[in-house]
Amino acid sequence: MYLYNSLSRKKELFTPNHPDVLKMYTCGPTVYHFAHIGNLRSYIMEDVLEKYLRYCGYNVKRVMNITDVGHLTSDADTGEDKMLKGARREHKTVLEIAQYYTDAFFADCDKLNIKRPDVVEPATHCVDFFIEIITRLLEKGYAYLAGGNVYFDTSKLEKYYVFNDFNAEDLDVGVRESVEEDTNKRNKNDFVLWFTKSKFEDQALKWDSPWGVGYPGWHIECTGISIKNLGEDLDIHCGGIDNAFPHHTNEIAQSESYLGHKWCNYWFHVHHLNTPEGKMSKSKGEFLTVSLLQEKGYDPMAYRFFCLQGHYRKNLVFTWENLDNAAAAYNKLIEKIAAVDPEGEVDEAVLAELRARFCKGMDADLNTSLGITSVLDALKAKASGATKLAAVADIDRVLSLNLIAAAASKREARRLAEAAEEHDPEIEAALAARAAAKKAKNFAEADRIRDELKAKGIEIIDTPQGAKWKRIEA
Ligand code: AMP
Ligand code: ZN
Repeated sequence: MYLYNSLSRKKELFTPNHPDVLKMYTCGPTVYHFAHIGNLRSYIMEDVLEKYLRYCGYNVKRVMNITDVGHLTSDADTGEDKMLKGARREHKTVLEIAQYYTDAFFADCDKLNIKRPDVVEPATHCVDFFIEIITRLLEKGYAYLAGGNVYFDTSKLEKYYVFNDFNAEDLDVGVRESVEEDTNKRNKNDFVLWFTKSKFEDQALKWDSPWGVGYPGWHIECTGISIKNLGEDLDIHCGGIDNAFPHHTNEIAQSESYLGHKWCNYWFHVHHLNTPEGKMSKSKGEFLTVSLLQEKGYDPMAYRFFCLQGHYRKNLVFTWENLDNAAAAYNKLIEKIAAVDPEGEVDEAVLAELRARFCKGMDADLNTSLGITSVLDALKAKASGATKLAAVADIDRVLSLNLIAAAASKREARRLAEAAEEHDPEIEAALAARAAAKKAKNFAEADRIRDELKAKGIEIIDTPQGAKWKRIEA
Protein backbone atom coordinates (compact mmCIF):
# COMPACT_ATOMS: atom_id res chain seq x y z
CA MET A 1 0.00 0.00 0.00
CA TYR A 2 1.19 3.52 -0.80
CA LEU A 3 0.59 5.91 2.04
CA TYR A 4 1.41 9.60 2.31
CA ASN A 5 3.92 10.14 5.08
CA SER A 6 3.91 13.63 6.60
CA LEU A 7 7.54 13.09 7.63
CA SER A 8 8.93 12.62 4.12
CA ARG A 9 6.07 14.59 2.53
CA LYS A 10 5.78 11.83 -0.06
CA LYS A 11 3.66 8.79 -0.75
CA GLU A 12 5.69 5.80 0.35
CA LEU A 13 5.28 2.08 -0.04
CA PHE A 14 4.21 1.00 3.43
CA THR A 15 6.47 -1.56 5.09
CA PRO A 16 6.08 -2.40 8.77
CA ASN A 17 9.03 -2.77 11.14
CA HIS A 18 8.14 -6.26 12.32
CA PRO A 19 6.62 -9.18 10.40
CA ASP A 20 4.41 -10.28 13.31
CA VAL A 21 2.77 -7.07 14.50
CA LEU A 22 1.94 -3.67 13.03
CA LYS A 23 2.05 -0.99 15.73
CA MET A 24 -0.37 1.88 15.37
CA TYR A 25 -0.96 4.81 17.71
CA THR A 26 -3.79 7.33 17.65
CA CYS A 27 -4.10 10.57 19.59
CA GLY A 28 -7.33 10.20 21.53
CA PRO A 29 -9.89 12.82 22.48
CA THR A 30 -9.62 15.47 25.16
CA VAL A 31 -12.62 14.48 27.22
CA TYR A 32 -13.93 17.83 28.45
CA HIS A 33 -16.86 17.95 26.02
CA PHE A 34 -18.61 15.92 23.34
CA ALA A 35 -16.60 15.12 20.23
CA HIS A 36 -17.67 17.22 17.27
CA ILE A 37 -18.19 15.66 13.88
CA GLY A 38 -14.83 17.14 12.78
CA ASN A 39 -13.00 15.16 15.48
CA LEU A 40 -14.98 12.13 14.38
CA ARG A 41 -13.94 12.61 10.76
CA SER A 42 -10.36 11.98 11.92
CA TYR A 43 -11.39 8.87 13.86
CA ILE A 44 -13.46 7.53 10.93
CA MET A 45 -10.53 7.82 8.53
CA GLU A 46 -8.12 6.28 11.06
CA ASP A 47 -10.61 3.45 11.58
CA VAL A 48 -10.69 2.78 7.83
CA LEU A 49 -6.89 2.76 7.74
CA GLU A 50 -6.72 0.25 10.60
CA LYS A 51 -9.40 -1.97 9.06
CA TYR A 52 -7.77 -1.84 5.64
CA LEU A 53 -4.41 -2.86 7.09
CA ARG A 54 -6.13 -5.78 8.81
CA TYR A 55 -7.91 -6.60 5.53
CA CYS A 56 -4.45 -6.78 3.91
CA GLY A 57 -3.48 -9.38 6.49
CA TYR A 58 -1.47 -7.32 8.97
CA ASN A 59 -1.80 -8.11 12.65
CA VAL A 60 -2.51 -4.57 13.89
CA LYS A 61 -2.12 -3.53 17.51
CA ARG A 62 -3.63 -0.10 17.97
CA VAL A 63 -3.31 2.08 21.06
CA MET A 64 -5.13 5.29 21.93
CA ASN A 65 -4.77 7.70 24.84
CA ILE A 66 -7.57 9.57 26.54
CA THR A 67 -6.49 13.09 27.45
CA ASP A 68 -7.91 13.65 30.91
CA VAL A 69 -5.23 15.97 32.25
CA GLY A 70 -2.72 18.57 31.09
CA HIS A 71 -4.29 19.89 27.86
CA LEU A 72 -4.45 23.64 28.14
CA THR A 73 -6.74 25.76 26.02
CA SER A 74 -3.74 26.77 23.94
CA ASP A 75 -1.53 24.01 22.55
CA ALA A 76 1.43 26.18 23.54
CA ASP A 77 1.18 25.55 27.30
CA THR A 78 -0.87 28.61 28.02
CA GLY A 79 -4.48 29.25 28.91
CA GLU A 80 -6.73 27.22 31.13
CA ASP A 81 -6.76 23.47 31.70
CA LYS A 82 -9.50 22.18 29.39
CA MET A 83 -10.64 19.54 31.87
CA LEU A 84 -10.95 22.04 34.68
CA LYS A 85 -12.90 24.32 32.42
CA GLY A 86 -15.31 21.47 31.61
CA ALA A 87 -15.71 20.55 35.28
CA ARG A 88 -16.46 24.12 36.25
CA ARG A 89 -18.98 24.50 33.42
CA GLU A 90 -20.92 21.46 34.59
CA HIS A 91 -20.35 21.66 38.36
CA LYS A 92 -18.77 18.22 38.40
CA THR A 93 -15.37 16.84 39.35
CA VAL A 94 -12.69 16.49 36.69
CA LEU A 95 -12.88 12.70 36.95
CA GLU A 96 -16.66 12.72 36.54
CA ILE A 97 -16.30 14.90 33.46
CA ALA A 98 -13.59 12.62 32.05
CA GLN A 99 -15.68 9.47 32.55
CA TYR A 100 -18.85 11.02 31.16
CA TYR A 101 -17.23 12.32 27.97
CA THR A 102 -15.11 9.20 27.47
CA ASP A 103 -18.31 7.14 27.49
CA ALA A 104 -20.00 9.67 25.20
CA PHE A 105 -17.04 9.48 22.80
CA PHE A 106 -17.23 5.70 22.52
CA ALA A 107 -21.02 5.84 22.15
CA ASP A 108 -20.49 8.15 19.15
CA CYS A 109 -17.82 5.78 17.82
CA ASP A 110 -20.28 2.88 18.08
CA LYS A 111 -22.90 4.82 16.12
CA LEU A 112 -20.34 5.49 13.40
CA ASN A 113 -18.96 1.92 13.35
CA ILE A 114 -15.57 3.10 14.58
CA LYS A 115 -13.82 0.15 16.17
CA ARG A 116 -12.39 0.61 19.66
CA PRO A 117 -8.57 0.43 19.63
CA ASP A 118 -7.01 -2.63 21.27
CA VAL A 119 -5.67 -0.52 24.13
CA VAL A 120 -7.26 2.68 25.46
CA GLU A 121 -5.34 4.40 28.28
CA PRO A 122 -6.31 7.55 30.15
CA ALA A 123 -3.29 9.79 30.79
CA THR A 124 -4.03 9.85 34.52
CA HIS A 125 -3.29 6.10 34.72
CA CYS A 126 0.29 6.46 33.50
CA VAL A 127 1.74 9.40 35.43
CA ASP A 128 4.51 7.31 37.05
CA PHE A 129 5.85 6.40 33.63
CA PHE A 130 5.72 10.02 32.46
CA ILE A 131 7.81 10.94 35.53
CA GLU A 132 10.31 8.21 34.57
CA ILE A 133 10.65 9.61 31.04
CA ILE A 134 11.00 13.20 32.25
CA THR A 135 13.67 12.12 34.77
CA ARG A 136 15.64 10.50 31.94
CA LEU A 137 15.26 13.57 29.72
CA LEU A 138 16.67 15.71 32.54
CA GLU A 139 19.58 13.28 33.06
CA LYS A 140 20.36 13.33 29.34
CA GLY A 141 20.35 17.12 29.29
CA TYR A 142 17.26 17.50 27.08
CA ALA A 143 15.19 19.17 29.78
CA TYR A 144 15.61 21.88 32.39
CA LEU A 145 13.86 23.21 35.45
CA ALA A 146 12.67 26.80 35.44
CA GLY A 147 10.21 28.63 37.65
CA GLY A 148 9.04 25.36 39.20
CA ASN A 149 8.22 23.63 35.87
CA VAL A 150 10.22 21.15 33.78
CA TYR A 151 10.69 22.19 30.14
CA PHE A 152 11.95 20.37 27.09
CA ASP A 153 14.92 22.20 25.58
CA THR A 154 14.33 22.30 21.82
CA SER A 155 17.72 23.90 21.17
CA LYS A 156 19.33 20.53 22.03
CA LEU A 157 17.94 19.00 18.85
CA GLU A 158 19.59 19.04 15.46
CA LYS A 159 16.19 19.25 13.80
CA TYR A 160 13.09 20.29 15.66
CA TYR A 161 10.64 21.16 12.85
CA VAL A 162 10.06 17.78 11.31
CA PHE A 163 6.76 18.32 9.49
CA ASN A 164 7.21 21.81 8.16
CA ASP A 165 9.81 24.39 7.36
CA PHE A 166 8.63 26.93 9.85
CA ASN A 167 10.75 29.91 10.43
CA ALA A 168 11.22 30.01 14.20
CA GLU A 169 10.38 33.71 14.13
CA ASP A 170 6.93 32.94 12.73
CA LEU A 171 6.15 30.81 15.70
CA ASP A 172 6.37 33.36 18.41
CA VAL A 173 3.96 31.50 20.62
CA GLY A 174 3.10 34.44 22.86
CA VAL A 175 2.22 36.67 19.94
CA ARG A 176 0.48 33.94 17.97
CA GLU A 177 -1.92 33.03 20.73
CA SER A 178 -2.21 36.60 21.98
CA VAL A 179 -1.55 35.40 25.49
CA GLU A 180 1.20 36.09 27.95
CA GLU A 181 4.50 34.50 26.94
CA ASP A 182 6.07 32.08 29.40
CA THR A 183 9.33 33.81 30.37
CA ASN A 184 10.70 30.59 31.89
CA LYS A 185 11.23 29.15 28.43
CA ARG A 186 14.78 29.37 27.11
CA ASN A 187 13.59 28.99 23.52
CA LYS A 188 10.33 29.97 21.99
CA ASN A 189 9.22 26.41 21.23
CA ASP A 190 10.33 24.79 24.45
CA PHE A 191 7.37 23.07 26.04
CA VAL A 192 6.32 21.96 29.48
CA LEU A 193 6.90 18.35 30.49
CA TRP A 194 5.80 18.83 34.08
CA PHE A 195 3.93 21.69 35.72
CA THR A 196 4.35 22.37 39.41
CA LYS A 197 3.72 26.06 39.29
CA SER A 198 0.11 25.66 38.35
CA LYS A 199 -1.53 28.74 37.01
CA PHE A 200 -4.72 27.63 38.69
CA GLU A 201 -5.06 27.58 42.41
CA ASP A 202 -7.72 24.89 42.21
CA GLN A 203 -5.88 22.47 39.90
CA ALA A 204 -7.86 19.30 40.61
CA LEU A 205 -5.46 16.49 39.75
CA LYS A 206 -1.96 16.59 41.20
CA TRP A 207 0.77 14.03 41.69
CA ASP A 208 3.95 13.94 43.69
CA SER A 209 7.13 14.14 41.63
CA PRO A 210 10.86 14.77 42.14
CA TRP A 211 10.15 18.39 41.11
CA GLY A 212 7.23 18.96 43.45
CA VAL A 213 3.50 18.31 43.39
CA GLY A 214 2.09 18.95 39.93
CA TYR A 215 0.82 17.39 36.72
CA PRO A 216 2.18 16.34 33.33
CA GLY A 217 2.14 18.41 30.16
CA TRP A 218 -0.07 17.28 27.31
CA HIS A 219 2.57 16.08 24.83
CA ILE A 220 4.34 13.66 27.19
CA GLU A 221 1.24 11.50 27.53
CA CYS A 222 1.30 10.21 23.95
CA THR A 223 5.02 9.46 24.13
CA GLY A 224 4.49 7.62 27.43
CA ILE A 225 1.34 5.72 26.49
CA SER A 226 2.78 4.65 23.14
CA ILE A 227 6.13 3.45 24.51
CA LYS A 228 4.46 1.74 27.48
CA ASN A 229 2.11 -0.28 25.27
CA LEU A 230 3.94 -0.63 21.97
CA GLY A 231 7.60 -0.54 22.91
CA GLU A 232 10.44 1.51 21.48
CA ASP A 233 9.23 1.79 17.91
CA LEU A 234 6.04 2.57 16.12
CA ASP A 235 4.85 1.96 12.55
CA ILE A 236 2.06 4.50 12.14
CA HIS A 237 1.08 7.47 14.28
CA CYS A 238 -2.29 9.07 13.48
CA GLY A 239 -4.02 12.32 14.31
CA GLY A 240 -5.77 15.34 12.88
CA ILE A 241 -3.60 17.74 10.90
CA ASP A 242 -3.76 20.40 13.65
CA ASN A 243 -1.80 17.99 15.84
CA ALA A 244 1.24 17.97 13.54
CA PHE A 245 2.50 21.13 15.19
CA PRO A 246 3.22 21.49 18.03
CA HIS A 247 1.84 18.22 19.47
CA HIS A 248 3.40 15.61 17.18
CA THR A 249 6.55 17.66 16.67
CA ASN A 250 6.98 17.67 20.45
CA GLU A 251 6.13 13.97 20.75
CA ILE A 252 8.95 13.17 18.31
CA ALA A 253 11.36 15.53 20.10
CA GLN A 254 10.87 13.94 23.51
CA SER A 255 10.42 10.30 22.36
CA GLU A 256 13.57 10.22 20.24
CA SER A 257 15.61 12.07 22.86
CA TYR A 258 14.43 9.60 25.49
CA LEU A 259 14.97 6.50 23.34
CA GLY A 260 18.14 7.63 21.59
CA HIS A 261 16.88 6.47 18.17
CA LYS A 262 14.17 7.00 15.58
CA TRP A 263 10.72 6.33 16.94
CA CYS A 264 7.91 6.33 14.36
CA ASN A 265 8.18 5.70 10.62
CA TYR A 266 4.86 6.88 9.18
CA TRP A 267 2.75 9.87 10.19
CA PHE A 268 -0.85 9.83 9.02
CA HIS A 269 -2.63 13.17 9.31
CA VAL A 270 -6.31 13.67 8.55
CA HIS A 271 -7.24 17.08 7.24
CA HIS A 272 -10.04 19.07 8.74
CA LEU A 273 -13.76 19.13 8.44
CA ASN A 274 -14.67 22.79 8.18
CA THR A 275 -17.86 24.74 7.93
CA PRO A 276 -18.13 27.42 5.26
CA GLU A 277 -17.33 29.89 8.07
CA GLY A 278 -14.08 28.10 8.92
CA LYS A 279 -12.66 25.63 11.43
CA MET A 280 -14.95 23.56 13.60
CA SER A 281 -13.87 23.80 17.18
CA LYS A 282 -15.06 22.54 20.56
CA SER A 283 -13.76 25.55 22.41
CA LYS A 284 -16.08 27.83 20.41
CA GLY A 285 -19.02 26.40 22.38
CA GLU A 286 -21.66 25.59 19.73
CA PHE A 287 -20.68 22.65 17.59
CA LEU A 288 -22.10 19.75 15.61
CA THR A 289 -22.38 16.35 17.25
CA VAL A 290 -23.55 12.95 16.04
CA SER A 291 -26.58 13.23 18.35
CA LEU A 292 -27.54 16.49 16.68
CA LEU A 293 -27.36 14.81 13.25
CA GLN A 294 -29.62 12.05 14.58
CA GLU A 295 -32.07 14.55 16.08
CA LYS A 296 -32.32 16.06 12.62
CA GLY A 297 -33.17 12.63 11.22
CA TYR A 298 -29.83 11.62 9.69
CA ASP A 299 -28.51 8.09 9.93
CA PRO A 300 -24.93 8.26 11.33
CA MET A 301 -23.96 6.01 8.39
CA ALA A 302 -24.82 8.88 6.04
CA TYR A 303 -22.15 10.94 7.82
CA ARG A 304 -19.61 8.11 7.60
CA PHE A 305 -20.44 7.81 3.89
CA PHE A 306 -19.99 11.59 3.49
CA CYS A 307 -16.50 11.31 5.04
CA LEU A 308 -15.52 8.34 2.88
CA GLN A 309 -16.56 10.17 -0.28
CA GLY A 310 -13.73 12.63 0.34
CA HIS A 311 -10.00 12.04 0.55
CA TYR A 312 -8.47 12.23 4.03
CA ARG A 313 -5.78 14.67 2.89
CA LYS A 314 -8.26 17.24 1.62
CA ASN A 315 -10.32 19.55 3.77
CA LEU A 316 -13.98 18.64 3.75
CA VAL A 317 -16.67 21.31 3.90
CA PHE A 318 -19.69 20.49 5.97
CA THR A 319 -23.04 21.96 4.94
CA TRP A 320 -26.49 20.46 5.43
CA GLU A 321 -26.85 20.38 1.67
CA ASN A 322 -23.64 18.37 1.33
CA LEU A 323 -24.85 15.96 3.99
CA ASP A 324 -28.24 15.65 2.25
CA ASN A 325 -26.48 14.74 -0.99
CA ALA A 326 -24.38 12.12 0.79
CA ALA A 327 -27.46 10.70 2.54
CA ALA A 328 -29.26 10.45 -0.81
CA ALA A 329 -26.28 8.72 -2.45
CA TYR A 330 -25.99 6.33 0.50
CA ASN A 331 -29.68 5.46 0.27
CA LYS A 332 -29.42 4.87 -3.44
CA LEU A 333 -26.52 2.52 -2.88
CA ILE A 334 -28.50 0.61 -0.26
CA GLU A 335 -31.48 0.38 -2.66
CA LYS A 336 -29.20 -1.11 -5.31
CA ILE A 337 -27.85 -3.70 -2.90
CA ALA A 338 -31.39 -4.51 -1.68
CA ALA A 339 -32.41 -5.14 -5.28
CA VAL A 340 -29.84 -7.90 -5.75
CA ASP A 341 -31.35 -11.36 -5.73
CA PRO A 342 -28.99 -13.48 -3.61
CA GLU A 343 -29.22 -16.38 -6.08
CA GLY A 344 -26.53 -18.70 -7.33
CA GLU A 345 -23.11 -19.76 -6.14
CA VAL A 346 -20.24 -17.50 -5.21
CA ASP A 347 -17.78 -17.37 -8.11
CA GLU A 348 -14.43 -17.21 -6.30
CA ALA A 349 -12.51 -15.97 -9.34
CA VAL A 350 -14.86 -13.01 -9.86
CA LEU A 351 -14.84 -12.30 -6.14
CA ALA A 352 -11.02 -12.17 -6.15
CA GLU A 353 -11.10 -9.78 -9.10
CA LEU A 354 -13.58 -7.48 -7.30
CA ARG A 355 -11.43 -7.56 -4.19
CA ALA A 356 -8.38 -6.64 -6.25
CA ARG A 357 -10.25 -3.69 -7.73
CA PHE A 358 -11.11 -2.48 -4.25
CA CYS A 359 -7.48 -2.83 -3.13
CA LYS A 360 -6.23 -0.88 -6.14
CA GLY A 361 -8.08 2.23 -4.94
CA MET A 362 -7.29 1.77 -1.29
CA ASP A 363 -3.61 1.08 -1.97
CA ALA A 364 -3.39 4.51 -3.59
CA ASP A 365 -3.09 6.44 -0.33
CA LEU A 366 -6.37 5.17 1.09
CA ASN A 367 -8.65 6.41 -1.67
CA THR A 368 -11.96 5.68 0.05
CA SER A 369 -13.99 7.29 -2.69
CA LEU A 370 -12.62 4.66 -5.10
CA GLY A 371 -13.42 2.15 -2.36
CA ILE A 372 -17.09 3.16 -2.64
CA THR A 373 -16.89 2.98 -6.44
CA SER A 374 -15.70 -0.60 -6.15
CA VAL A 375 -18.96 -1.45 -4.36
CA LEU A 376 -20.83 -0.14 -7.40
CA ASP A 377 -18.49 -2.13 -9.66
CA ALA A 378 -19.37 -5.27 -7.71
CA LEU A 379 -23.08 -4.58 -8.22
CA LYS A 380 -22.57 -4.11 -11.95
CA ALA A 381 -20.36 -7.21 -12.37
CA LYS A 382 -21.44 -10.00 -14.69
CA ALA A 383 -21.84 -12.46 -11.86
CA SER A 384 -24.41 -14.23 -9.71
CA GLY A 385 -26.25 -12.28 -7.02
CA ALA A 386 -24.43 -14.38 -4.41
CA THR A 387 -21.07 -13.27 -5.82
CA LYS A 388 -22.08 -9.59 -5.85
CA LEU A 389 -23.31 -9.72 -2.26
CA ALA A 390 -20.20 -11.60 -1.13
CA ALA A 391 -18.05 -8.84 -2.65
CA VAL A 392 -20.12 -6.08 -1.03
CA ALA A 393 -19.90 -7.80 2.38
CA ASP A 394 -16.17 -8.27 1.97
CA ILE A 395 -15.48 -4.62 1.06
CA ASP A 396 -17.73 -3.47 3.88
CA ARG A 397 -15.43 -5.16 6.40
CA VAL A 398 -13.29 -2.06 5.74
CA LEU A 399 -15.79 0.66 4.82
CA SER A 400 -18.14 -0.36 7.66
CA LEU A 401 -21.21 1.28 6.15
CA ASN A 402 -23.66 -1.43 7.30
CA LEU A 403 -24.28 -2.16 3.62
CA ILE A 404 -25.64 -5.68 3.96
CA ALA A 405 -27.69 -5.10 7.12
CA ALA A 406 -29.17 -1.83 5.81
CA ALA A 407 -30.10 -3.52 2.52
CA ALA A 408 -31.72 -6.40 4.42
CA SER A 409 -33.84 -4.03 6.51
CA LYS A 410 -34.81 -2.15 3.39
CA ARG A 411 -35.95 -5.44 1.81
CA GLU A 412 -37.83 -6.36 4.96
CA ALA A 413 -39.55 -2.96 5.13
CA ARG A 414 -40.56 -3.32 1.51
CA ARG A 415 -41.95 -6.79 2.12
CA LEU A 416 -43.99 -5.56 5.07
CA ALA A 417 -45.34 -2.67 3.04
CA GLU A 418 -46.29 -5.04 0.24
CA ALA A 419 -47.88 -7.42 2.71
CA ALA A 420 -49.89 -4.56 4.18
CA GLU A 421 -51.31 -3.92 0.73
CA GLU A 422 -52.11 -7.54 -0.01
CA HIS A 423 -55.63 -8.74 0.81
CA ASP A 424 -56.69 -12.32 1.30
CA PRO A 425 -60.19 -12.88 2.77
CA GLU A 426 -59.31 -16.33 4.12
CA ILE A 427 -56.21 -15.11 6.02
CA GLU A 428 -58.02 -12.02 7.26
CA ALA A 429 -60.86 -14.18 8.57
CA ALA A 430 -58.28 -16.33 10.42
CA LEU A 431 -56.71 -13.18 11.90
CA ALA A 432 -60.14 -11.96 13.04
CA ALA A 433 -60.83 -15.36 14.64
CA ARG A 434 -57.46 -15.20 16.40
CA ALA A 435 -58.18 -11.70 17.68
CA ALA A 436 -61.55 -12.87 19.01
CA ALA A 437 -59.91 -15.90 20.68
CA LYS A 438 -57.34 -13.64 22.34
CA LYS A 439 -60.05 -11.29 23.55
CA ALA A 440 -61.85 -14.27 25.08
CA LYS A 441 -58.50 -15.26 26.66
CA ASN A 442 -58.58 -18.50 24.70
CA PHE A 443 -54.86 -18.41 24.02
CA ALA A 444 -54.68 -22.07 23.03
CA GLU A 445 -57.04 -21.34 20.13
CA ALA A 446 -55.11 -18.18 19.21
CA ASP A 447 -51.88 -20.17 19.10
CA ARG A 448 -53.52 -22.91 17.06
CA ILE A 449 -54.58 -20.36 14.43
CA ARG A 450 -51.05 -18.91 14.38
CA ASP A 451 -49.58 -22.40 13.86
CA GLU A 452 -52.10 -23.25 11.19
CA LEU A 453 -51.23 -20.10 9.23
CA LYS A 454 -47.54 -20.75 9.71
CA ALA A 455 -47.95 -24.18 8.20
CA LYS A 456 -49.41 -22.43 5.15
CA GLY A 457 -46.35 -20.13 4.94
CA ILE A 458 -48.00 -17.12 6.61
CA GLU A 459 -46.36 -15.28 9.50
CA ILE A 460 -48.38 -13.10 11.85
CA ILE A 461 -46.82 -9.85 13.03
CA ASP A 462 -48.46 -8.19 16.01
CA THR A 463 -48.26 -4.41 15.78
CA PRO A 464 -49.83 -1.63 17.87
CA GLN A 465 -52.30 -1.25 15.01
CA GLY A 466 -53.38 -4.90 15.24
CA ALA A 467 -52.11 -8.12 13.68
CA LYS A 468 -50.56 -7.98 10.20
CA TRP A 469 -49.33 -10.85 8.09
CA LYS A 470 -46.65 -11.62 5.57
CA ARG A 471 -45.61 -14.58 3.47
CA ILE A 472 -42.59 -16.40 4.83
CA GLU A 473 -39.83 -16.46 2.23
CA ALA A 474 -38.84 -19.93 1.12
P1 AMP B 1 -9.17 16.77 20.66
O1 AMP B 1 -10.32 16.08 21.35
O2 AMP B 1 -9.33 18.25 20.57
O3 AMP B 1 -7.85 16.39 21.30
O4 AMP B 1 -9.15 16.25 19.15
C1 AMP B 1 -9.34 14.92 18.79
C2 AMP B 1 -8.88 14.67 17.35
O5 AMP B 1 -9.67 15.41 16.41
C3 AMP B 1 -7.43 15.08 17.09
O6 AMP B 1 -6.81 14.08 16.29
C4 AMP B 1 -7.56 16.37 16.31
O7 AMP B 1 -6.45 16.60 15.50
C5 AMP B 1 -8.80 16.09 15.49
N1 AMP B 1 -9.54 17.28 15.01
C6 AMP B 1 -9.78 18.43 15.67
N2 AMP B 1 -10.54 19.28 14.92
C7 AMP B 1 -10.79 18.63 13.75
C8 AMP B 1 -11.53 18.96 12.56
N3 AMP B 1 -12.19 20.12 12.43
N4 AMP B 1 -11.57 18.05 11.55
C9 AMP B 1 -10.93 16.85 11.67
N5 AMP B 1 -10.24 16.49 12.77
C10 AMP B 1 -10.16 17.35 13.80
ZN1 ZN C 1 -1.09 12.72 20.95
